[in-house]
Amino acid sequence: MKNFDNSKRAFKEAQGYMPGGVNSPVRAFKNVGGDPLFIKQGKGSHIEDIDGNTFIDYVLSWGPLILGHADDEVVSALQAATAKGTSYGAPTELETELAKKIREIVPSVEMMRMVSSGTEATMSAIRLARGYTHRDKIVKFIGNYHGHSDSLLVDAGSGLATFNINTSPGVPKDLAYDTLTVPYNDVDGIKAVFEKNGPEIAAVIVEPIAGNMGVIPGTQEFLDTLRQLTTDAGALLIFDEVMSGFRAAYHAAQSLYHIKPDLTTLGKVVGGGLPVGVFGGRRDIMEHITPDGNVYHAGTLSGNPLAMTGGLSTLNQLNDNLYHNMTAKTTRLVEGIKAAGDAHNVPITVHHVGTMWSYFFNADPVDNFADVQASDVDYFAKFFKQLLQQGIYTAPSQFETNFMSSKHTNKDIDDTIQAFNDAFDALNNG
Ligand SMILES: *Cc1c(COP(=O)(O)O)cnc(C)c1O
Repeated sequence: MKNFDNSKRAFKEAQGYMPGGVNSPVRAFKNVGGDPLFIKQGKGSHIEDIDGNTFIDYVLSWGPLILGHADDEVVSALQAATAKGTSYGAPTELETELAKKIREIVPSVEMMRMVSSGTEATMSAIRLARGYTHRDKIVKFIGNYHGHSDSLLVDAGSGLATFNINTSPGVPKDLAYDTLTVPYNDVDGIKAVFEKNGPEIAAVIVEPIAGNMGVIPGTQEFLDTLRQLTTDAGALLIFDEVMSGFRAAYHAAQSLYHIKPDLTTLGKVVGGGLPVGVFGGRRDIMEHITPDGNVYHAGTLSGNPLAMTGGLSTLNQLNDNLYHNMTAKTTRLVEGIKAAGDAHNVPITVHHVGTMWSYFFNADPVDNFADVQASDVDYFAKFFKQLLQQGIYTAPSQFETNFMSSKHTNKDIDDTIQAFNDAFDALNNG
């Protein structure tokens, strides 16, 4: 058994200073029970905790580290940038350089603004959509996560396309009232919402590949329907690609579906491990942002040289070939996991798109949030702990996504598949 004493002690102390001992809730391991690991360092595909245990890491800071931990080029670029000063609050050429790179990879992002998180990107995109259309209502899908701003924190937890006022405490009722929720992949549901509310809807925001309830790809029909309905109603289509951009595919999920959204939000990989978010899209819409237009947006540290360097030194190393290899590795891994589950008679459904992957302890298809909820989360919790014992660090929740990096080796993948088999053995025999 691995010893986690130092992490336990550190967690206890942290709980005296931060709610739940953490600065973001899923880190607290509440979904799987037990105490979170405190990390000392990472390199490539591996992390080491403060007890000296090492793990093959598939969380990768929840997605950003597509080149693995402490990539040599990223580290030296950041060191050089730091020596020149971390922020000026004045323009630098780095911002344009990163913007150019982003538009080259995701051409629908004709103009953009850099921000400091995915939450800020989606929040700003929603404000822009409302300001541009002079409408208030937005539509989101149940189980899609778009950060924690008020308008987007609405989660109906029901399968009905209805007005929803069940939200986090602290979200004003009136704001929640303007957020309509629909089950993911529900074509009839979204059509009904547009029939009833079409002229009042400012925007539909969607994760084209959902990654915040495990990985669930949107169907082509579903996303085509969103494109058509929004166009017909004069509403905007926002693809939240904070996770799927540079993850589901090099050219973002929109390239897989051949759909051009009006606005796109990016985050995670776009900062290469530093805090960066981006919202952008059609030039005629983006020109409504201050100071060109009157939809307000600002940020003290937006586009700071350190963050831009994190993004540039990462994106500059990405290319189609790298994605081809990472996708092949991901496919091999999930096929091994599926085979391990089958060999041990454990019902398991695996999903993967590009470098995003997850597994559900569920014998049935998983196409929306209700399906995910029907998975065996108790088994997931036990299984997660077994994986830790086997030296595999995966997302500590059935409702999250795992990732692949360019640094994961074939041996890492073989070791991981072996660990899944050993974890099934341990649970079957325990
Ligand atoms: C992570 C995520 C966000 C929020 O980004 P933060 O940087 O955590 O604020 C928004 N949308 C999606 C799809 C995400 O995966």
